[in-house]
Amino acid sequence: MAGVRVLENFIGGEWVEARGERAREVVSPVTGERLAEAPEASAEEISRAARAAREAQPRWAALSAWERAEVCHAVADLLEERKEELARQLSLEQGKPYRSEAIPDIEETAENFRVAAEDVKRLETAVIPSQDANKRIFTFREPNGVYACITPWNFPTVIPSELIAPAIAAGNAVVAKPSEWTPISMANLVQTMADAGLPGGVVNLVYGAGEVGERLVTDPAVDCVAFVGSHQTAERIVRSAGLRRTLIEASGNGPVIVCADADLRRAAKGAVFGGFYCSGQVCCATERVLVDRSVHEDFLRAVVEEARSWKLGDPFEEDTLVGPMNNEPTAAKMDRHLEDAVGKGASVVLGGGREEGRPTSLYYRPTVLDNVGTDTLINRDETFGPIVPLIPVSGDEEALAVANDSHLGLQAAVYTSSLRRAFAYLRNLRVGNVVINDSTDYWEALEPFGGAAGTRTGWGRVGGRYSLLEMTDLKTVVLDFG
Ligand code: ADP
Repeated sequence: MAGVRVLENFIGGEWVEARGERAREVVSPVTGERLAEAPEASAEEISRAARAAREAQPRWAALSAWERAEVCHAVADLLEERKEELARQLSLEQGKPYRSEAIPDIEETAENFRVAAEDVKRLETAVIPSQDANKRIFTFREPNGVYACITPWNFPTVIPSELIAPAIAAGNAVVAKPSEWTPISMANLVQTMADAGLPGGVVNLVYGAGEVGERLVTDPAVDCVAFVGSHQTAERIVRSAGLRRTLIEASGNGPVIVCADADLRRAAKGAVFGGFYCSGQVCCATERVLVDRSVHEDFLRAVVEEARSWKLGDPFEEDTLVGPMNNEPTAAKMDRHLEDAVGKGASVVLGGGREEGRPTSLYYRPTVLDNVGTDTLINRDETFGPIVPLIPVSGDEEALAVANDSHLGLQAAVYTSSLRRAFAYLRNLRVGNVVINDSTDYWEALEPFGGAAGTRTGWGRVGGRYSLLEMTDLKTVVLDFG
């Protein structure tokens, strides 16, 4: 076995050996081997990282958007050059299939840097007519300062890049804290950024779990927080952030609505993709499928046929489409949700547990459940596992009521062949994003992505120029020529 890698903090442009006493082992969900040791950053290290960002930020912001964009493009170039090795380590640490998911993840990471680089050049603002003939009022956008970027383990390079790329393109500096489950991918991303010529201090990196995140959020040198993760953690972060500006993308409970007039094959394909991609560990995964009773039987048949082609296995084997889940707490939650639904009358049609004889106990069989009730944990909460649960409903009114009876409102999908019906759903669904006739698990770099107000999915939008708007502020100038 290769030696266990000892990760170091990245502060002020240098890898710094950790001083803290505590470290956390990173174990591969694929093989069970120890991959690395990540230090828990001490209070002193967190504050040094934040101060390094604070010091570097004004110089970085003083460059032109074109100069910062050039660095972002260089990062993207290098990510593409290193794609295979980065993806290999990502699969090994996260569990996702190498060919169908890890490689596209690195490509999307590079794309996020390119999009931020190009969009920041087009961040125009308004000129406002003045009441006074001698005056002109105009605005421009300024970076917000130092960002703490706190990210989860399901997309350990894509999600950090969704936050870090626009943050730095706009002239902010960053202290990044990856999930304790996937620090290696973040270390590799930061190394690539440094090698591409990012000036020291613009991005800093510390490791650790919630306690480290908490300290980082409240550090006096941190101005703003960008967070992607669970809604429970989001609530804690918002409380500790006080008046700091926050960008919060939290959990979803993605309903797929299959109407009586839906193309059932297409709906089955989309529901299964949304349920099994990344083992269902996606904030916009298909968490529940509300199927009209009139097409229930036919739809179930189509789902089962589609689901059988999603092979569980070693992420490095070419035909594997489902890898192991990332960690035990998430797999245990899937166990609980499954048990709860079955206890309340649901039936297991496919899968329904972990596969024996694998190197770890995280290989969860892709699962299809039928006749899931609305009083279940599956319907009410985010499951975050490889599951397609069918909840039969009678008509659009009931589908809409079940879909909206949720405290999480991120992304929904509706399958219908009627434009009128689609329009009614997209107006009435309490979610930030609606997909008509494709999977809930749909995302692209330029679309504004985020949760609906009134739900606990967070606020703000990431994607394209929308992230840049979040991460900058208007400065208004009144010029008197008189
Ligand atoms: P997930 O299970 O999707 O990773 P979590 O919300 O548990 O979601 O974690 C997301 C990120 O938030 C991780 O980097 C985690 O270490 C961090 N985190 C957890 N608790 C806190 C906290 N109280 N303050 C700041 N960050 C936290």
